[in-house]
Amino acid sequence: MSQYPMSPVMGQMMSQPLLTSCVIRHADRYHGNQEIVSRRAEGDIHRYTYTECHRRSRQMANALSGLGVEVGDRVATLAWNGYRHMELYYAISGSGAVMHTINPRLHPEQIAYIVNHAEDQYLFFDLNLLPLVESFHAHCKTVKGYVMMCGLSSMPDKTSIPNLMCYEALIDASSELYDWSQFDENSASSLCYTSGTTGNPKGVLYSHRSTVLHSYASAMPDALNISARDTVLPVVPMFHVNAWGLPYTVPMVGAKLVLPGSSLDGKSLYELFEQEKVTVSGGVPTVWLGLLNHVSQNKLKFSTFKRMVTGGSACPPAMMKTFRNDYGVEVLHTWGMTEMSPLGTACTLQSHHLGLPEEQKQAILEKQGHAIFGVDMKIVDDAGKELPWDGQTYGNLLVKGPWVINSYFKGEGGGVLQEGWFPTGDVATISPDGYMQITDRSKDVIKSGGEWIGSIDLENIAMAHPAVQQAACVGVFHPKWDERPLLVVVKKPGAEVSKEDLIQFYDGKIAKWWTPDDVTFVDALPLGATGKVLKNKVREQFKEYKLPA
Ligand code: ADP
Repeated sequence: MSQYPMSPVMGQMMSQPLLTSCVIRHADRYHGNQEIVSRRAEGDIHRYTYTECHRRSRQMANALSGLGVEVGDRVATLAWNGYRHMELYYAISGSGAVMHTINPRLHPEQIAYIVNHAEDQYLFFDLNLLPLVESFHAHCKTVKGYVMMCGLSSMPDKTSIPNLMCYEALIDASSELYDWSQFDENSASSLCYTSGTTGNPKGVLYSHRSTVLHSYASAMPDALNISARDTVLPVVPMFHVNAWGLPYTVPMVGAKLVLPGSSLDGKSLYELFEQEKVTVSGGVPTVWLGLLNHVSQNKLKFSTFKRMVTGGSACPPAMMKTFRNDYGVEVLHTWGMTEMSPLGTACTLQSHHLGLPEEQKQAILEKQGHAIFGVDMKIVDDAGKELPWDGQTYGNLLVKGPWVINSYFKGEGGGVLQEGWFPTGDVATISPDGYMQITDRSKDVIKSGGEWIGSIDLENIAMAHPAVQQAACVGVFHPKWDERPLLVVVKKPGAEVSKEDLIQFYDGKIAKWWTPDDVTFVDALPLGATGKVLKNKVREQFKEYKLPA
């Protein structure tokens, strides 16, 4: 039921629910021969078409009803990006159940917590995740059976997992005759837990409507700009925030889809990019760093790759420049979060920018961007008062829209909205023409003598230094200023740079008092389950660090 009043004169158009099954049905009918190519856990490359994907999704939907899965039941997947995972996306949600994607990089205890919290009825997993499932299944209280996503010949002879079934056997035994159910578009389609860097993970429950609308919006030219002429390779995992919605957006527009499996190193990705003639790809900056290292060390070029979508954490401007200037790849900076399905902003130029000098255009493209239609943003102070869009004033970033969370699954964390707006936990500025730039996550801001220092700017400058591979900047205790910035740096292999040189590198690039007080070198930075630097871990590690007096 709508919460809004009805007009005495209602529109007289067909009332057709926006369901995810409409997407695969459309891809089959209008782009039936378009390919889905997957690198499988079995080690080979698998290719088929949207028509075959649709057929096997219907067979799987029949298999699920044979297993007794009912509307609203949660069915879990623990899998990499691959065609069987894609079939489950459509089979589970299309039959009215809720697809619960789980991140295999989480700790087994955390996975068991999530499975129990979601009350998953079945759990589907990839071939190479068998040892992981063996390590936690005994703690799962609601799971009636496990399905290994492989053929009969790959099934294990012996395992501790009870009621273990074979994916291909389920498909083979099921009819392809299945009419996708019709139900209210506000029904839940999928469930994804936040990474839970502090406290237990919380479930974000997407609806069919939010998912379909998010896909429409993210395909638009000033968003991801994906069309039937593209070949899209989502590096972003299908186990986290539905791979930014790409398993829906790509078939919706009829583009070719390339699914890379679990090998996300620079070499494996480069090979797939070239073999399959990938034009667009999406991932977090750490993945792009790996790809960049591979192509630069081996003096390679991309023959078809033209647009790299980056998001999940700030994209270092130095990396953007290298991709664009040395490899001819356009970098599209996007911002969002699990609670936003995830796309909120994308950064492209507007017509009034076109005459600007190159550097000024670049400075705009380094921002997180403008809201895509459907998302509204504002910045507020701690009392909730709205702050001006002047590109200078920074405040807490709030959002609203039809694919933004209203409340967490099972009401976890209570009411999350502030007068109808979702507080993102990010601190940002907004320019007069609506371009948002994240200064920091509110928990990562460095508080120096009552003023704020944004750690992202400091990291971006460090990463522009030729000897720096990765950098994290955190606040550490200072007797006079409360906190001061400490720069933690991973050097590029074989490169050398001194602390003093790095500190000097900030001269003229930033207000003097923002300059880090000290630099420390490490072999690696701690990465979370979605490939982001864990700033809380870095802070913890350097809690006792003594800054120079
Ligand atoms: P997590 O589970 O780590 O919270 P999300 O994917 O939901 O994962 O993370 C969302 C957060 O990631 C945002 O609130 C923001 O802090 C950060 N983020 C995402 N994209 C960007 C970006 N382009 N620049 C800076 N920060 C970003």
